[in-house]
Amino acid sequence: FVKQNGRGSFSFYFEDLNIDAKRVILLDREIRKAIENREFTLSFQPKIDVVHNTIVGLEALVRWQNKELGFVSPGEFIPYAEETGLIIPLSEIIIEKACEELAILRAAGYRDIPIAINISSIHFGQSNFLESLQKILEKYNTAPHNFELEVTERTVMNSDEETVRKFVRLKKAGFKLSIDDFGTGYSSLSYLVRFPLDYLKIDRSFIQHIALLDEKQAVVDAIIQMAHRLKMKVIAEGVENIQQLNLLRKMGCDYLQGYYYSKPVPMAELIDFLQIWEVEHQGRIE
Ligand code: C2E
Ligand code: MG
Ligand code: MG
Ligand code: MG
Repeated sequence: FVKQNGRGSFSFYFEDLNIDAKRVILLDREIRKAIENREFTLSFQPKIDVVHNTIVGLEALVRWQNKELGFVSPGEFIPYAEETGLIIPLSEIIIEKACEELAILRAAGYRDIPIAINISSIHFGQSNFLESLQKILEKYNTAPHNFELEVTERTVMNSDEETVRKFVRLKKAGFKLSIDDFGTGYSSLSYLVRFPLDYLKIDRSFIQHIALLDEKQAVVDAIIQMAHRLKMKVIAEGVENIQQLNLLRKMGCDYLQGYYYSKPVPMAELIDFLQIWEVEHQGRIE
């Protein structure tokens, strides 16, 4: 997109750029401003214990509504933030917002529901990762046991003793640890034994056609059995219908998450959801 003009010099033609390149330029400009102005918000999706019909946690998912770009999905801007290093200040904003929202949740009377935060492998890889978390939590006068950290398989793949030690330190500090999108990487469960994980989240792609495909059922069933042997609880992502729910419950899956129960929603709406849930399930909130 650099053009040579008649006099042998180069100039920049924005109009000639293809749509993708224009989008990246806009995205870059807008995300930097958005970080400056803390334009990001969080939505929350409940995690349901299917045996006791209780809400055992909430996952925080970042949302970005921008004047120029409209709604930008985290699937687009998180990878961009990771490529550019902007993920570090962005992650700090997300964790601070999670602390603020936790205070709202507790003020509404829900004192024992932890919030799960998605952690970028880039942020996790910083040598001061634990310290940066602790600093934010102290600022908001809250403790690690109120949080779960979701890291993807990618974060633990090909990882050395240093990474294992980091997990152990986080666990000792009081954070609950989850492996997210399980099944999309290439790690085996036996490999995961080295990490002190509390939860294993089965990726949505395995849940999607589970009611129709016997092979998917066999894989999910095997993951659940093995995770339980390794003392991990299993969460199914992307549960959208009653057929999936019934199958997963029969297989002994501990917790479910998905549109069947609720889309990710702002905290005020989530609190409404919790109140309705309590009424419908005789006030049994864990
Ligand atoms: P994830 O952590 O695996 O989050 C689950 C994604 O599935 C979310 O998409 C959620 O809205 C969506 N989902 C939940 N239930 C259903 C369902 O029943 N059906 C379908 N079709 N989708 C469902 P979202 O919010 O667009 O996030 C996409 C990914 O972006 C996340 O995957 C996570 O990897 C990343 N992400 C989101 N928020 C954050 C964040 O705060 N920090 C970081 N580092 N990454 C984030
Ligand atoms: Mg997640
Ligand atoms: Mg996931
Ligand atoms: Mg996923």
